[in-house]
Amino acid sequence: MSKYTEQQANPVIESSLRMWREQGPLLRLEGTVCPGCKKKFFPPRYVCPICHTQEVLIFRFSGTGTIANVVSNQIPQISLLGFGEHIPRYIATIELDEGPVILGEIVDVDNADLVVKGARVSSVFRKGARSVNGSWTYIYKFILG
Ligand SMILES: [Zn+2]
Repeated sequence: MSKYTEQQANPVIESSLRMWREQGPLLRLEGTVCPGCKKKFFPPRYVCPICHTQEVLIFRFSGTGTIANVVSNQIPQISLLGFGEHIPRYIATIELDEGPVILGEIVDVDNADLVVKGARVSSVFRKGARSVNGSWTYIYKFILG
């Protein structure tokens, strides 16, 4: 059995249309903001669930936030899906300073004791998985601080 060192494409969930649609959120942390009630959404919503307007605006989140919860994933099978060199991986829910709670990976961890609920994080731009056509995809991740 060979050991993959990068995350493999998943044709079940991959489509070029989806990649195109999600590049703003994934590459620039773009969500939306309702001009009426000022509520911010990530991932973007195009109809405000509170005032039902469709006139929402693109909003770029700062990328800073606080860890709301975190797990360290040390299950060996993830090396089959890629990122075998990154074990353990820290998957966290992060409350962005602008409000939304999102899922993200904490990377560049030197001291696991610091990856705890309440720790401050900021977003970085990192390599994700290979796409079906072999090119790299990129996605936001988070570092401590
Ligand atoms: Zn609204």
